[in-house]
Amino acid sequence: MLNKLFKTIITPIINQLPLCVFMYLLWGMNLFVSLFGPLYAYDPKVFIVNLVLEPCVFLFGFLAFMYLFAFLTDFINKKWFKVFIYAVIILLAGIKWLLYNTFGIDITPTTLVLLAETNKNEAIEFIETFVLTKSNLYLIILLPAIICFIFICEKFYSHHRFDIFKEKLKSSYWVRFFVLAVLMYSCYNVCANGIVMSNCPNTDELSKLELDTSIKNPLTEIVYSFYGIYLMNHEESSFENRINNFKANNVSCSQKDSLNIILVIGESYIKHHSSLYGYYLNTNPMLSKEQDAGNLFVFNDVITPYSSTSITVKNVLCTNSLSDGEKWNNSLFFPQLFKAAGYDVFFWDNQKYWGDNSNFAFALNSFLYNKLLVSNVYNQVNKKAYPFDEDIVKSFGDVKLTAKRNLVIFHLLGQHIAFKERFPNNEDYIYFTKDSIIRNEQWMTDYKKQRIADYDNATRYNDYVILQIINLFRDKKSIVVYFSDHGEEVYDYRNSSGRKSDGMSRGQLKYQFEVPLMLWFSDSYRNDNPDVMKQVKDALNRPFMIDNLCQLLFHLGDIKTKSYHSERDLISPNFKPRKRIVLDQYDYDGIMNNKKGD
Ligand SMILES: [Zn+2]
Repeated sequence: MLNKLFKTIITPIINQLPLCVFMYLLWGMNLFVSLFGPLYAYDPKVFIVNLVLEPCVFLFGFLAFMYLFAFLTDFINKKWFKVFIYAVIILLAGIKWLLYNTFGIDITPTTLVLLAETNKNEAIEFIETFVLTKSNLYLIILLPAIICFIFICEKFYSHHRFDIFKEKLKSSYWVRFFVLAVLMYSCYNVCANGIVMSNCPNTDELSKLELDTSIKNPLTEIVYSFYGIYLMNHEESSFENRINNFKANNVSCSQKDSLNIILVIGESYIKHHSSLYGYYLNTNPMLSKEQDAGNLFVFNDVITPYSSTSITVKNVLCTNSLSDGEKWNNSLFFPQLFKAAGYDVFFWDNQKYWGDNSNFAFALNSFLYNKLLVSNVYNQVNKKAYPFDEDIVKSFGDVKLTAKRNLVIFHLLGQHIAFKERFPNNEDYIYFTKDSIIRNEQWMTDYKKQRIADYDNATRYNDYVILQIINLFRDKKSIVVYFSDHGEEVYDYRNSSGRKSDGMSRGQLKYQFEVPLMLWFSDSYRNDNPDVMKQVKDALNRPFMIDNLCQLLFHLGDIKTKSYHSERDLISPNFKPRKRIVLDQYDYDGIMNNKKGD
């Protein structure tokens, strides 16, 4: 009885074996090719493990979909239906491959939004420009070949001489065991992923799911993308309500003197790789000079609530306080308050087109470039982005500031991921080599030392970039506020780089969550505001989390608003330290003060 049931269950897979194999190969094509990409080529051991592991992980997550297609084909058992199923498989594989081959992206919410917003002429232009290129030409030649090959395999497999072979497979205990076990796991995986996805409260949470190999097939990606668009609409409508209902007359500016406030959002800056914070290599020579001259102040105990860009930036640019249980999309966009108080607002974003269609860019850019913000808040935004941050700063040099008071926000590429590409590759910018890195752990290699040196060169370049920003405003009454959205790891305390999270250790908190925060004041500002200078000096060692940064900016910008809370303002005498929770669950001070912890 049970025997018969098992046999019945695995029958569609055996009967439709060519369909299953082609579906696996075609839908997994991006993955198989990416395994040979440069990411894995560096370390042969990692490469070989991934070469075996990733296709298996993909198959295990994928079998449920494969089974569904095989089952339907076997059940309906009509030629036209089989042709239809093959057409769907080839079409989805083709879209996925074209996106990957042309832009290096997957099917994401952004891709679908772009598709939906594309009219007929744009679509034709798009196809001419991107699809019909030389690098895609072989696809057009390959397509008829694949169809012919499928036809031959199907014909061959349907021959009755294979009947005995099929029967043997169906009766084999090994085949039964393997198919049933993987199918059960795969169904569980699909359900579990579905539950995780449907429990995602916002686009930021959803964008974290994108790394999982087992869900990287076109069908899941399409479902996932539609869900992302649904979440984005939901988030935006509550945020847009706040923007629309905002009453400008609640806000005023008590000073009429000229002032420029420049907020610099850094990227992936490990505080402990800054010589301003005691790093052994001189990664901040220029800012050190500013510090020695008494213009620059460095805050020593600042953390970020999240280790990813999008959600951190949202929480910094909105007036909410996480420690007080407030969410960003139920609060105000703080630059809007500056605007209402008479400031001109400029947003110069060097990550504007970075990772263009990735899920993380979708989560961030749908917020930063919300149509209401673009029309109501920003006076001007940059039109171009550049490979190196120095050029985005230069491009701001051409902007004429006509208002007395200006808020300028720079969003840098900083030390993002490919460290080596974050600074110009010439002798002027290469200060450190693998020989500069004094490390002797057993797992340390020359390759890893070189990556650390690349990171330190990128950090030193960032020092130069911040100085260029300072120089733009040096002779005016100006304040530059620099912070980083989060840290990073580059083999600092364990054999790992990036922002891997496994539980929460002190090492992770130290390198991923502790961030630099510095304030620079021009001479004319310093001379006119001795009281502020004293407040800043008194606050350098206060424990602070950057979601409340806007409170400090309201203070510096003399903004009077109901959204200002002096107890959250880092330099106010009323400042009260708050409980600092990272990733919505870990008590930073609790873990760091626990001597027994890792
Ligand atoms: Zn970031």
